[in-house]
Amino acid sequence: MDALSELRAALGPDACLTGEALQGVAHRSDASATGQDLPLALLRPGSVAEISKALEICHRHGQPVVPQGGMTGLAGGANCRPGDVALSLARFHGVEEIDPVAGAMVVRAGTVLEIAQNAATDAGFLLPIDLGARGSCQIGGNIATNAGGLRVVRHGTVRDNLLGLEAVQADGSVLSHLSRMRKDNTGYDLRHLMAGSEGTLAVITRAVLRLSPMPSGIETAVCALESYDAVLALMSRARGQVALSAFEVMWADYFELCGGRRLFSTTPPFAVIVETEGGGLEPLLESAVEDSLILDALVAQSHAEARRFWEVREAALPEAHVNDIVNFDVSLPIAGMDDYVEVCRARISSAQPAARSFFFGHIGDSNLHIMVEVPGYSDADVHAVDRIAYDLVRDLGGVISAEHGIGTLKRGWLGHSRSPAELAAMRAIKHALDPAGILNPGKVL
Ligand SMILES: Cc1cc2nc3c(=O)[nH]c(=O)nc-3n(C[C@H](O)[C@H](O)[C@H](O)COP(=O)(O)OP(=O)(O)OC[C@H]3O[C@@H](n4cnc5c(N)ncnc54)[C@H](O)[C@@H]3O)c2cc1C
Repeated sequence: MDALSELRAALGPDACLTGEALQGVAHRSDASATGQDLPLALLRPGSVAEISKALEICHRHGQPVVPQGGMTGLAGGANCRPGDVALSLARFHGVEEIDPVAGAMVVRAGTVLEIAQNAATDAGFLLPIDLGARGSCQIGGNIATNAGGLRVVRHGTVRDNLLGLEAVQADGSVLSHLSRMRKDNTGYDLRHLMAGSEGTLAVITRAVLRLSPMPSGIETAVCALESYDAVLALMSRARGQVALSAFEVMWADYFELCGGRRLFSTTPPFAVIVETEGGGLEPLLESAVEDSLILDALVAQSHAEARRFWEVREAALPEAHVNDIVNFDVSLPIAGMDDYVEVCRARISSAQPAARSFFFGHIGDSNLHIMVEVPGYSDADVHAVDRIAYDLVRDLGGVISAEHGIGTLKRGWLGHSRSPAELAAMRAIKHALDPAGILNPGKVL
């Protein structure tokens, strides 16, 4: 029997969609909108045993498999090439257990992040992983991309909140280490190897996530600042005085684009959303105003008002009428970030006069996002803009992906951030765990 016939027989026709049944199913591209091809088949297993069986069959036939979560990724990592089989985790979902004593939850990989967050809240805990795509992205995808998001400055990335993991290897064997213990020094940490592996090393099936106490006294303000030096001074002061849970910076062009203008009478050169836990925000801002670090500040008086500030930061691009966008998600030393912005903007304008660049990011975590609108762009335009942004990142000692991962879109630039020896070690790991190269081929390496 060929691979498809075996998969259909093992999973049943409803969990192995092909041909007509695939049309209209959103499995062509992730949120980067760069995927063009439908998979040969879409597998929708409903248990770890079925995932294991599907991989065992694919492995035996040398059939490439692309794990798919919520398809909100921005690096093309879940896109299929012609002939690839997609393996969706959507049917393997649900919170299996909340363990208040360990401060942990056991979650299936196909669980949508927001559902896991709500379950934690209902049990009186905070699941600190949070990102704009929370209503669609899945826990498995979050782990596979080692997602960052809005609360990293306080709670770390997904990796920092991952206590245990279960994953199915390329040959169908199951690696299960669903540990709830914070201390576990038993050999190589496969959990951390899988985090950020973008579907190239194994299919993640379950996770134990660390829960935090519900934050009390969350305060949110949006501040107007005159210069990047003032942004840095405010950040150092905030780090020393309060429990920062977010420090989001928007350069004027982004702030204006996303409707920030309505918050202040004029658009400031820099706008910063500062969020704290446990109080202390108002005294911080008062002292910053006294010392002329900030021009103006609005402190949210209600949850709804805080949401209005966040809506500017998380503005949906279609509403902002920006099209043909090249996205960047880089990390840079915080102090040199504005120099990067200035040079990058100037070089892009000179190479692409019709382009518009917008800068913002989780600056408290060294993470800068850039959106470059290049009307009617071609592949050559994208490559030219990529080169400008990534060469400069390399020259300033940054890295080309802070949180979205490498996928297909940044694969050609990985050498800007990783040495030949590191790349060789990565290839050796990939070969050891997936010798037939069936898991998400063409991604990352
Ligand atoms: C509006 C918006 C806001 C965003 N904000 C952020 C942000 O603040 N921070 C951030 O880090 N990202 C952000 N993202 C990007 C994206 O949401 C994250 O990368 C997310 O973690 C991807 O999860 P997913 O389930 O959608 O994965 P997918 O897009 O389906 O897949 C992503 C990668 O993970 C692999 N994968 C998926 N599931 C599994 C699995 N179970 N086992 C093995 N591999 C798997 C895929 O093969 C692919 O390589 C944002 C995206 C959008 C659209």
